[in-house]
Amino acid sequence: MTKYIASCSFGKDSLAMLIKIKELGMPLDEVIYCDIRFDDNISGEMPKMAEFIPKAEKILKDKFDITVKHITYKRTFKEQFYTIKQRGKHIGYNYGFPYVIGAWCNSRLKIEPIRDYLKSINDDVIQYVGIAYDEPKRYERLNHDTHIAPLYDLKITEKEAIEICKKYDLLSPIYEDSFRGGCWFCPKQRLSQLRFLYKNYPNLWKILKDMEKDSHNTFRPNTTLIDLEERFKKEED
Ligand code: SF4
Repeated sequence: MTKYIASCSFGKDSLAMLIKIKELGMPLDEVIYCDIRFDDNISGEMPKMAEFIPKAEKILKDKFDITVKHITYKRTFKEQFYTIKQRGKHIGYNYGFPYVIGAWCNSRLKIEPIRDYLKSINDDVIQYVGIAYDEPKRYERLNHDTHIAPLYDLKITEKEAIEICKKYDLLSPIYEDSFRGGCWFCPKQRLSQLRFLYKNYPNLWKILKDMEKDSHNTFRPNTTLIDLEERFKKEED
């Protein structure tokens, strides 16, 4: 038997995709979400997204009878950060911050738990992915034997996905801040998003600054969080 599984990030494309799957009566056995945790109490999502997710889950349940399964790696970001490396470079040091290229968090906290979960399913799996019509390069890279991109197939653009989500009150508030999601501790995030974190979530900023003292590498290549903070302060002056 084939199982149809949709990946949901709670961004506009994956939520619009779920809505269309349900509206069109396409087969759907399970919806999974990779729940990256900073620690046991703090989500890896930007705070507005972390608040939105349980609300969105309730709407999905009430309006579409969808339950989202959370897939979580056995360690949180913080636990992995402080794990001592046994292989590769920097043996004997903790993992520290992920590098911008080849970030350990992407493989450990995201790809690995999802891959393990899918492997544990004793059926053929077809995965639905939220790729909009204006993302042809992502669509081309898909393995079309095992993946379906309903938005792309229906020629639904990112802008149209926003309107579909709005209809059901399923548009994440992160788009008000013009962000695309991702973890608040992501070293790859744009400077504008880091500035936003510094200004609006000083508690999270302080956590990162304290961790940088324990890391063998700086948060960004050749740039410490203190450097960034000084830059942001100067801009304010
Ligand atoms: S969004 Fe950034 S921090 Fe989060 S898993 Fe991806 S690369 Fe890592």
